[in-house]
Amino acid sequence: MREFNETISFIRDYYNTKEFIPLHEPKFGGNEKKYVLDTIASTFVSSVGAYVDKFEERMQRISQTKNAVAVVNGTAAIQVALRLVGVQKGDEVLTQALTFVATANAIAYNNAKPVFLDVDLDTMGLSPIAVQNFLEEYAELREEGCYNKKTGNKIAACLPMHTFGFPVHLHKLLKICNEWKIPVVEDAAESLGSEYNGKPTGGYGEVGAFSFNGNKIVTSGGGGALVTNNNALGKKAKFLTTTAKKPHTYEYVHEELGYNYRMPNLNAALACAQLENLNNFIENKRNLAEKYAHFFEKQQLKFRTETPNTKANYWLMCVELKDRQQRDLFLEKTNAVNVMTRPIWQLMYKLPMYKECLRDKQVNAEFLEDRIVNIPSSVK
Ligand SMILES: *Cc1c(COP(=O)(O)O)cnc(C)c1O
Repeated sequence: MREFNETISFIRDYYNTKEFIPLHEPKFGGNEKKYVLDTIASTFVSSVGAYVDKFEERMQRISQTKNAVAVVNGTAAIQVALRLVGVQKGDEVLTQALTFVATANAIAYNNAKPVFLDVDLDTMGLSPIAVQNFLEEYAELREEGCYNKKTGNKIAACLPMHTFGFPVHLHKLLKICNEWKIPVVEDAAESLGSEYNGKPTGGYGEVGAFSFNGNKIVTSGGGGALVTNNNALGKKAKFLTTTAKKPHTYEYVHEELGYNYRMPNLNAALACAQLENLNNFIENKRNLAEKYAHFFEKQQLKFRTETPNTKANYWLMCVELKDRQQRDLFLEKTNAVNVMTRPIWQLMYKLPMYKECLRDKQVNAEFLEDRIVNIPSSVK
């Protein structure tokens, strides 16, 4: 098909290469080597060190929150975030089915049950309307919190995910969850630097979780961070992720089940260097997004752009194909010539481990699952 050839040429011209073009590759053009070598020279490569502290300070600033805690990866960050807001065994957590599997896994690691609700077509993230409809039908407010009348389980948290860096409709979602006394944890793994109403994502919920995996907008090799404005939760986050060790001069005192989820100083060093370039990366990506938008308009293909009152980091950019058949053709043609493209995730309730989970109709999620394809989005 003619338009796919033009798309391929456009992407090849932009990245100016005849080689394989990945979806998203990390870019190291700053102080990465300097800081990493510095940890080796100091011998502080492991679980304590100046870069961990520096990284946490920087994450506070970037997310505009009062507390940030560095952890081993984004999945661990979400897992602990849910525990921090009180999620316990058998509880239900409202989330979207259109997400990366880690979102649902983090719920399952707490022995809690995901409830999959639909996304909005514009943001591709958890729909406040779907949440409202579900709560009106199923929920009951008791003194101890919100309960599902039909299952008897507590609805202990709501976990929206900002798909590809496009913020969900936070204002409406927070209002509904507040009315029903359900704490919100933001899976902001993909939206570092994205803004909603002029304020960064991740800092809106009770707790926010970020990922610094190699494919994200900036990377620590592997890593994650928890952020919160609640100082008590911030303290608890540090405590739980560092084996729940009570301060003592020489004794080992652990009175509660904690985790060894610390981010090594070696990784924090890499993250610190990368964060220095976050704004440049976002500018670079927004520039590419503008070029893509202009190009795809002529191709009569729908390039996904940010919604009103938001600023997206454009972590992974995407187009919406006409139907599943056209989507498959697009995937085939582009990958055949080494221009990497990928469909959006399979909906979580189609995976064997989440087949039995409670869910709503998923009209929008199914629509997007059939049509959305990620295209090369690396910083040039
Ligand atoms: C990447 C990602 C995670 C998990 O991050 P890791 O650091 O890989 O554990 C969680 N949720 C979403 C939506 C992600 O994209």
